Amino acid sequence: MFIIHVVPIARGIGKETLSYFSATEIALGSLVNVPVRTRQITGLVIKTEKADDLKAELKNSTFSVKKISGLKVLSLFLPEFIAAAQDTARYAAGSSGSVLASITPKVILEQADKLKINLPPVAKKPETDEDSQPHEPYVLQADEEERLAHYKSLIREQFARKKSVLFCLPTIQDTKRIFETLPKGIDEYTFVLNSAVSKKEVLELWTKISSIPHPVLIIATGSFLGIPRRDIGTIIIERENSSGYKSQNRPYVDIRTFAEFFAKRIGAKLILGDLLLRTETVWRSKNMEITELAPLKFRSLSTAETSIVDLKKYKTLDTPEFRILSDELQELISSNKTNNGNMFIFAARRGLSPITVCGDCGTTVLCNNCSAPIILHRAAGEQFFLCHRCGERRSAEERCRVCNSWKLTTLGIGIELIQDAIQGLFPDIKIFRIDKDSVKTHKQALSVADQFYNAPGSILLGTEMALTYLEKPVENSAIASIDSLFSIPDFRINEKIMNTLLRIRSFTQKTFLIQTRSKDQKLFQYAIKGNLMDFYREEIEERKRLSYPPFTTLIKLTIKGTRAKVAEEMTKLEEELIEYNPLVFPAFIETVNKKSVMHALIRVQHKQWVSENLLDKLQSLPPHIAVNVDPESLL
Ligand SMILES: [Zn+2]
Ligand SMILES: [Zn+2]
Repeated sequence: MFIIHVVPIARGIGKETLSYFSATEIALGSLVNVPVRTRQITGLVIKTEKADDLKAELKNSTFSVKKISGLKVLSLFLPEFIAAAQDTARYAAGSSGSVLASITPKVILEQADKLKINLPPVAKKPETDEDSQPHEPYVLQADEEERLAHYKSLIREQFARKKSVLFCLPTIQDTKRIFETLPKGIDEYTFVLNSAVSKKEVLELWTKISSIPHPVLIIATGSFLGIPRRDIGTIIIERENSSGYKSQNRPYVDIRTFAEFFAKRIGAKLILGDLLLRTETVWRSKNMEITELAPLKFRSLSTAETSIVDLKKYKTLDTPEFRILSDELQELISSNKTNNGNMFIFAARRGLSPITVCGDCGTTVLCNNCSAPIILHRAAGEQFFLCHRCGERRSAEERCRVCNSWKLTTLGIGIELIQDAIQGLFPDIKIFRIDKDSVKTHKQALSVADQFYNAPGSILLGTEMALTYLEKPVENSAIASIDSLFSIPDFRINEKIMNTLLRIRSFTQKTFLIQTRSKDQKLFQYAIKGNLMDFYREEIEERKRLSYPPFTTLIKLTIKGTRAKVAEEMTKLEEELIEYNPLVFPAFIETVNKKSVMHALIRVQHKQWVSENLLDKLQSLPPHIAVNVDPESLL
């Protein structure tokens, strides 16, 4: 008789491990079915003990140990993978089971019995120094072409050493792009996995990849790192700066953090690569915590001629309205048409206008449901207000809620307003658009991008969403509106804007134009010159002054509920965590679905997290308090 300790892989169990008995021993890393109250859930075996050793203990225990219901699959995960999930759970102040559930495809956990996994042999200890390789993280900051060259030679070198490579990317589109740019010839051993792959295929590939003796290249999004292979020599985290690596759901796992733990556990090389690495990652390399794979590039090259146009010059007494398209942008659109080029125009915000205010009393028009500022849109000739947070839609025919005035006016320029302006001036130019409102599916976006590239002289108008679909260079690009982003009170916003500008500049061949009402923003100068060094220097100074990462680890605690209840709970939480000086503040959008939202922020000095005392406190908080370590934003 054996006592089997399992990690419940399900949300909301609240316990780190559960214990069951079994007549036979079950290998560590196996998935089993176990009863929890009235339901059957999946559990991962992390420890087994002979029951004889425990007899006395069991007799005295007040609960009865239930029998395991059944075995789903033997050794689904490597022990090192489980250990890395446990490391991550500690780091994220969550449970190992919830981490495993968030980094493994659902179909693998639900239908694991359909997998045929042969337990991979235990890794051979390196016999000579040459066989072993350092497992510390490496960084690579360079233009895409140079990064790809590094990756290609790394993959060749790893294959020669009979090692596999895990190539991790933040989005489906990125995995496809990388697959297409990497050398052919190893196709047989290259696999692409992402959430667009069907369940059936995921099951087949999981079995296949884990059983091929030859080294493999796995190009995948974050939830496929668990495919059990003993020979992984390198893990690449490409586009390290992407917020796509951070989960939006509890326990808010960051794939980058997990990959670091995992690489360490399996003794693999970890490479963090991007055009512009996260500020904290650059800082860590400057402080020798991570190694440069090649000297970091702080100047990004581009063949494009760049310029910044001041939109303020158009605002005079005679023309009090802001211009949407500067003369320079109009000229560029027109010459792009004449020269049969392809042109991308970026707009930061969806809709006609991101903010509507009362012209008399200045009140911002808000969503009735969640109190986020409402966005003016138009469809079928009719104007309406749409909430981008909760999706509520209502007619735009209304008066100010405060002073009853009809004089509602819009501020800021959304993508639809830009489209109207271009169409008005250039009725014969074909305009394509990629944003959440115009494109509903991944397939549709691909098709729009394809049509755009095949229509010389045309324009693609897009938000951030469009960038993933711009896979080939374009002749000309322009930033039509981006200023509204600077007013977002978020510590990462400058980095996000810089990253967006650099990406657009990097795929532009001839002319790159930024029009703005705040020409003096130094960031624009850095972006058009590809000057990453001064950007970094300024950013890191600011982070230091305000005690943001990397100087501290941020932990954000969030409570939702009725106003009175949230206030009461927050007071309790503040007392509980008093020694950590929590900073309590309302969320940027204070109410969501008529519920009040409050945050408490704890700052832990660099390298002081994980601290046992604080971890204990966070893990014993009631489940309705959400804990987010390394939040992407404080809003
Ligand atoms: Zn008013
Ligand atoms: Zn709303």
